[in-house]
Amino acid sequence: MKKHNFSAGPCILPQEVLLKASEAVVDFNSLGLSLVEISHRSKDFVEVMQTARGLTLELLGLQGKGYQALFLQGGASMEFLMVAYNLLEKKAGYLNTGTWSDKAIKEAKLFGDVVEVGSSKDENFKYIPKGYTIPSGLDYLHLTSNNTIFGTQMKKFPTTDATLVCDMSSDIFSRQLDFSQFDMIYAGAQKNMGPAGTTLVVIKEEILGKVSRTIPSMLDYAVHIDKDSMFNTPAVFPVYVSMLTLQWLKKLGGIKAIEEVNDKKAQLLYSEIDLNPFFEGYAHIEDRSKMNATFNLTDAKMKESFESMIKEAGINGLNGHRSVGGYRASMYNALSLESVGVLVDVMSELERKG
Ligand SMILES: *Cc1c(COP(=O)(O)O)cnc(C)c1O
Repeated sequence: MKKHNFSAGPCILPQEVLLKASEAVVDFNSLGLSLVEISHRSKDFVEVMQTARGLTLELLGLQGKGYQALFLQGGASMEFLMVAYNLLEKKAGYLNTGTWSDKAIKEAKLFGDVVEVGSSKDENFKYIPKGYTIPSGLDYLHLTSNNTIFGTQMKKFPTTDATLVCDMSSDIFSRQLDFSQFDMIYAGAQKNMGPAGTTLVVIKEEILGKVSRTIPSMLDYAVHIDKDSMFNTPAVFPVYVSMLTLQWLKKLGGIKAIEEVNDKKAQLLYSEIDLNPFFEGYAHIEDRSKMNATFNLTDAKMKESFESMIKEAGINGLNGHRSVGGYRASMYNALSLESVGVLVDVMSELERKG
């Protein structure tokens, strides 16, 4: 039986996507060949790449606005350094909202000055800093829209003249935003889009070409744009599965439709966390993430019964990250409202049994 998969990443993907992907591994487009054994330069794969790139811009509402979508490798972690390599000449601003922004800051410091415009480290990243000032003269400002580990999410983004770069690894395609407020967005596929192995980069071409250093080809966004995201062999399988997920999302009605479901899921779980005396949330209420809900038991004595009930209910991946502890329910796009219902039933059952 299929489990209710709350894993933070690699994470749940739509069942129909997994089925189609498994068929393509054996025989792709009735070619008598597997997707993973044909040339990435073949007409069949070039079409996959172009469809994935096009659907990305279409779903984000960025078509015809000077953006390019790329499917690169190295994970979101590679973008931590590529962003700085390509965009940081003197000084960049970073909002430090957790482990991932912290790592991005570390890489950027290799290339120039980094100003931490705000940080929530003082409370182990339970909240999103607000009311910070953005210094002038930044090459760019870097944000993390959703903090996968701590369960916080930015609800508002600063209005600034600075080039805006956002790590959206764990909430891309989950909610409607004016994506054109960002000059660059990146996301590791394995949180809300596909298998690990490819990283989506959406970038406005006009922000490139402004740094004086020489950039190695593989790390140069302009090279990847020029080669239509095929400078070298792309991660053909992850790109294909990402394309299928984007097609699935489009068929559902796009980001608007999935956001309605995501809102319902978050509403259902957080109201249980707040009403059930056996549980307490981790993140500040106003900054709670709709993708990753972090919570804990109020009485550690209940741990054993809760965890055996979870297991019995077929729930997977609920353990919190080691830096936070407790539990984390990741409710990415492909997780159904029914699965959240199963978790909430277990939580209320625990309260009933006392
Ligand atoms: C998981 C995650 C990363 C790291 O992604 P990799 O693809 O493993 O490098 C970076 N940022 C955020 C917000 C994440 O959730």
